[in-house]
Amino acid sequence: MTLEDVLNRAGQMNRAERWILWTACGTHHPDSLPRTEEGGAKTKRPRYCPRCWTAFSADGVLWNPQCLSNELGL
Ligand SMILES: [Zn+2]
Repeated sequence: MTLEDVLNRAGQMNRAERWILWTACGTHHPDSLPRTEEGGAKTKRPRYCPRCWTAFSADGVLWNPQCLSNELGL
């Protein structure tokens, strides 16, 4: 799974669907998530969540943030 694969998977979901998965995941612990398989130093590779397809950069920043709850009218 490369970062591109993760972003593609996330992009195939609609925003509401992804938001639901994201909230179902609860708090993510990046240390426990798998890393993407790409070149470069292993410790620099982004991690991803295989449930909601959210990617986290090596320093823990969200790569592809979910929609904001106010976009769903919540
Ligand atoms: Zn998740």
